[in-house]
Amino acid sequence: MKADRRTFIATAAGGGLSALPLSAAPSSPVSARYRKLDEILSQPVLKKQLFSTPVIIETLELLQLNGGYLCRVRSREGAEGISVAHSTMSTLYPIFLKNLRPFFLGKDARELDLILEKVYIFGFNFRLNGIALGLPLATIEFAILDMLGRMANKPVGELIGEIHNRDVGVYMATEWREKPVEESIRLIQGAVAEYDIHALKIKVGGLMYMTTDMNAVGPPGRTEKMIPLVRKTFGDKMALYADSNSFYGVSEAIRVGRLLEENKYVYFEEPVMFDHIEEIKQVSDALKIPIANGEQDNSFYGFRWLIANDGIDIVQPDNYYFGGLIRSMKVARMAAAFGKTIVPHMSGGGLGFLYNIQFVSAVPNAGEHHEFKSFQTNVKYECKTSPLKVVNGKIKVPTGPGFGADLDPEWVKRHQVVKG
Ligand SMILES: [Mg+2]
Repeated sequence: MKADRRTFIATAAGGGLSALPLSAAPSSPVSARYRKLDEILSQPVLKKQLFSTPVIIETLELLQLNGGYLCRVRSREGAEGISVAHSTMSTLYPIFLKNLRPFFLGKDARELDLILEKVYIFGFNFRLNGIALGLPLATIEFAILDMLGRMANKPVGELIGEIHNRDVGVYMATEWREKPVEESIRLIQGAVAEYDIHALKIKVGGLMYMTTDMNAVGPPGRTEKMIPLVRKTFGDKMALYADSNSFYGVSEAIRVGRLLEENKYVYFEEPVMFDHIEEIKQVSDALKIPIANGEQDNSFYGFRWLIANDGIDIVQPDNYYFGGLIRSMKVARMAAAFGKTIVPHMSGGGLGFLYNIQFVSAVPNAGEHHEFKSFQTNVKYECKTSPLKVVNGKIKVPTGPGFGADLDPEWVKRHQVVKG
C-alpha cells in the first residue's frame, strides 16, 4: 500500500503532500481517481432484483421500553422487519419522528438506495447531518433490510453484497486510557481472558484534542510505557491495534506512530483530529504503520478525499453514525478500488455487534479483526443460526433471514409506540 502511495505522490502535480488541493485539475492523476470513486458512489447497493413487486412501506414505528428503542416497519402486504436502536436514540428520537419517518411512508422499499440519498434533502435534513441524522436513519434502514431479508429468505449480507466472510474475526476493544499503567494492564488482561480472542486494541494518548485539562488523560508517560508493555504482556502472536481518538497533533502522532511500528502494532486509529484530512495524510505519509480513520465521518467526501489522495489505509465508517449499511458499503467499495481495507467502527450495546458482523460478511476487503466489546445486551432475542460465541477469535455470522435475530415477541409487545 505504501509503495503504491509513493508512486502516486511522485506523479502528482507538485508532489507536496499538504499542498494537494481538495479538487484537482481534470487531467491530474488524482482527478482520475476521483472519477473512479464517483462512479462507485453512483452504483446502487441493494439488490432490488430480488423483489419483483413493490414493497410499499405502510407503517414505520418507534417503540420504547425502559429507555431502549426499537424500530418496526411493516409493508402494505404485511411483511415486517425490526431493528434495535443505538442508545443515543433517547436524544434523537424527535428526528426519527419528524424528519425521517414522513419521507419513508408510502415509498417502495426496493428504492432504498435512492431514498437514502433523497432523505438528506427532504426538509433540509442535510443541516442535521452527522450522528443526529445518521443514527436514526440507520435504525430505519436496519429495520427495512430486516424486512426485505425475511421476504427474500436471505441474510442481510446477501441483499447488499456477496458473502465473503462466513465467520468474522474480532479484536477486543479496550478503554481505560485515564488509568495508571499497571491497572490498565490488569483490566485489559481481564477483558481479553473473557473470550477466545487473538487481537486487542488499546487506547493511547487522551480523548480528543485539547482535553489535557479535562481528566481524559492518564498519568504522564502512560502511552510510552503501555505500547511496549502490552506487546510484552500479550506476546508476538497477539494482533495489536492502537487508537488515540484524535488526541495528537501531527508531530506527536508521528512520534507515537514510530513507537507503535517498533512494537509491531497493526494500525494506528485516529492519530490526529478526525476531520483534519490533510493532517491525517501528513501522518500517514510519514509512517509505515497503516492509518485508520472514519468513525466520526458523516459524508462520503471525507472518505473520498482520503482514499483518492492516499491519506488513509483503513476506512472505519460507523454503521449507525454514518446512516446504515448501504452507505457504509459504498465506502467499502471506494476503499476496495484502491486496495484499502474496511474495519467499520462499532458502537456498543443493543445488537450492534450483530449488525456489524452481518455487514462485514458482505465485504471483500474486510480487515482481519473487527471491533468487539461483548455480547452483553438488554435485548431479548434468539439466534437460530449462530451460537454467537467467539471461537478461535471468530464469530459465525447468522445465516437466517434478515439479521438472523428473532426478537422475543412478548418482550416486543411490552414496548409502547412513541407518538410524534
Ligand atoms: Mg476509535
